[in-house]
Amino acid sequence: MYKYCLECGWQASTAEGTPESEVSKAAIEHFVETGHTVESLRLPPPVIIEN
Ligand SMILES: [Zn+2]
Repeated sequence: MYKYCLECGWQASTAEGTPESEVSKAAIEHFVETGHTVESLRLPPPVIIEN
């Protein structure tokens, strides 16, 4: 999971061994502290299955 801020350079990722729960928590804290919009990407990208 990768989360990044649309309004400043803030970002957090599980790529460096940070637990997903910590990344989510950090994103919420960034939003609460700054009011910025945080977008998230899942790593690896989700596979869309179409029939
Ligand atoms: Zn921000």
